[in-house]
Amino acid sequence: MQLEFYGGAGEVTGSCHILTVGGRRLLLDCGMIQGGAAPHERNRAPFPFDAAGVDAVILSHAHIDHSGRLPLLRNRGFRGPVYANPACRDLVRILLADGANMAERDAERENRRRQKAGDPRRVEPLYTLKDALDVLQQFRTVRYGHPLEVLPGVELTFRDAGHILGSTSVWLTLREGELERRVVFSGDIGQYDSPILRDPEAGPGADLVLLESTYGGRLHRDRAATLEEFGRILRDARRDGGNVLIPAFAVGRSQEMLYELAKHFDAWELGDWRVFLDSPMAIQASEVYWKHSDLFDEEAQEWHTRSLSLPPLPNLQLCRTADESMAINRISHGAIVIAGSGMCTGGRIVHHLKHNLARPECDVVFTGFQAQGTLGRAIVEGRDYVRIHGSPVKVAARVHTLGGFSAHGDQQDLLRWHAAIPGRPPVWLVHGEASAAEGLRDALRARGVGAEIAAPGITLDLGAAA
Ligand SMILES: [Zn+2]
Repeated sequence: MQLEFYGGAGEVTGSCHILTVGGRRLLLDCGMIQGGAAPHERNRAPFPFDAAGVDAVILSHAHIDHSGRLPLLRNRGFRGPVYANPACRDLVRILLADGANMAERDAERENRRRQKAGDPRRVEPLYTLKDALDVLQQFRTVRYGHPLEVLPGVELTFRDAGHILGSTSVWLTLREGELERRVVFSGDIGQYDSPILRDPEAGPGADLVLLESTYGGRLHRDRAATLEEFGRILRDARRDGGNVLIPAFAVGRSQEMLYELAKHFDAWELGDWRVFLDSPMAIQASEVYWKHSDLFDEEAQEWHTRSLSLPPLPNLQLCRTADESMAINRISHGAIVIAGSGMCTGGRIVHHLKHNLARPECDVVFTGFQAQGTLGRAIVEGRDYVRIHGSPVKVAARVHTLGGFSAHGDQQDLLRWHAAIPGRPPVWLVHGEASAAEGLRDALRARGVGAEIAAPGITLDLGAAA
């Protein structure tokens, strides 16, 4: 019985760990590597195991850095079941289809470039839509709190991780002969008291915990203060007579923004605004959210029962087509536009920035992390000019960064989640950059908890580990 760290150990993307129990092989997540050095090559590289020999995958949640290599695993021979929460499955369908589109476009672009350069070699997309649809057929859904024997000697219980809809922590009881071990994989843990979602849930005792550490070294800004600032920005923006652009990730952040706008509709004086959700993918993700309203927290469920439409935002317009999106460009004031991509690396938000960024009466509100090298980062860093579609655009609009909206719990949240597991089980830290993992390790050790930082290639003998 052993556990091997493979991806998402010592870094924040490419989550994947390999369990071997009774000669059977089980993957915890199968995520895409994003950013860093040569992500394309690393994603294309062979798995360190035979894909056809993997007996099952357990998927913690839909984010691409946890699910994105599943089509590739299928393409390379994996035919076993993928266990996931029902809402997770529905979100994965949207994200993998989008990923396939992007992979096919990337390959086309690269092949055109090679053709022009006289290079006869062709690249294949990382995976195709068919690979994505095929692996979706292998999904088996499991609800929270319902134990299921997924392989002989492997019992799985999902518990709500409060990170995005359908996100789970994976609670496993593993049996091999006389040996029994309880192993928990946290998945990504959300913030306590975040909107729409329930709080991260702990469970019974465990022999070993794999704990994410994305924000293990820091504390988030206070959520109430963040919302107060958001309200002030919107009230000021109304007076200034421009538009407000909100770059947002399609899954999670977009729904959270709509929810907060609905909830604070009167307090933030939103009656005169027109709110646009300008992203087909965010619209689809929202539909998945509303469909699985049974997973909402109490407050969101109450909204749900009180209102016929979700979210109850009377001035919301959903823009599915390119024409609907372009029509927004003719509006000079009074529009709040939520669009992707979240870091402005592509998508419809780029067009809206092109039309509004040079106008001092407009506002851009960032609510998520902006990675180095992205257009979003260039704007939040306060550059005077940025390049959009090859041309310089002056940044005259007011730029705001709201700090309290993370889908990830901070150090305090992660410690709180761990402390709720009886017996203070030992921890291996995954899914965090070195400084974040070290911060959390030290905080755990200060509380008398054994904590180590995982690295790719480390294999734990679970028989000996307890
Ligand atoms: Zn995640």
